[in-house]
Amino acid sequence: MTELPHPATGQPFASPVPPGSGWPGDLADATTPVAHDPAQVRALARSARTPDEVGARSSVCRACPRLVAWREHVALTRRRMFAHEPYWGRPIAGLGEEHPRALVVGLAPAAHGGNRTGRMFTGDSSGDWIIGGLHRAGLAGQPTSVHAADGLRLRHTRIVAPVRCAPPDNKPLPSERDACTAWLDAELRLVAGDVRVLLALGAFAWASALTAARRAGWAVPRPQPRFGHAAEAVLATGAGRDVVLVGSYHVSRQNTSTGRLTRAMLDDVLRRVADLATAGAPAQ
Ligand code: SF4
Repeated sequence: MTELPHPATGQPFASPVPPGSGWPGDLADATTPVAHDPAQVRALARSARTPDEVGARSSVCRACPRLVAWREHVALTRRRMFAHEPYWGRPIAGLGEEHPRALVVGLAPAAHGGNRTGRMFTGDSSGDWIIGGLHRAGLAGQPTSVHAADGLRLRHTRIVAPVRCAPPDNKPLPSERDACTAWLDAELRLVAGDVRVLLALGAFAWASALTAARRAGWAVPRPQPRFGHAAEAVLATGAGRDVVLVGSYHVSRQNTSTGRLTRAMLDDVLRRVADLATAGAPAQ
């Protein structure tokens, strides 16, 4: 099995990366239970006690055969410009605070971004956009997200993907979305006491957030709020406070290179998210 040096640490790794082999930020090890079908995903997600436990278990998940094959194929074949480095090739755990006030919901990791670096929004242009924006809004400690050992810290914020494996053409199947949703449900359950705002990056994330909120027992307005850039919906958690769902066009290269999403548009939304997240929060 070929091993290549990690671009930051120099430690050699196989692709895909075995759990517990020392990859920066790897939450799993050889004893982490593995889900092989949607029922096992639901059981392991339900019994997870912390977001990091959700992260560890989801990062070794093998419930969707098409996505397992794709993520590992990409990890083995690699893009030419990254041919000299190892690929993570596993599902991507949530990133950021264990007690977040803002939960950012994306879509799925990119084949040569998160699937390569092992971290959400890391190592590609989407990461440059969202992490840069979070930094300008005071929610990230640095403006860049290059690799999993770059020291990135989020403030008040956690980022999760409704689908945790890189899908072909960035298009998960409905069955894959449905299988993966138990991991999102579990994260929402575990952060529900802290979170004040959900930021949905794109229509897929908006629908996933509303579905997860409904399954968590939160009241979702009827008719269902429609996605749009800077759209908002108030979700009543039933615990005596509301959570605001905010929409933004996704930070995909397709949106940012065509001007559908500009830096000013993103900054406007992230300022709103930061205001909602930090109102009454202890300083960090
Ligand atoms: S998409 Fe989600 S449920 Fe499917 S294999 Fe990946 S982590 Fe598991």
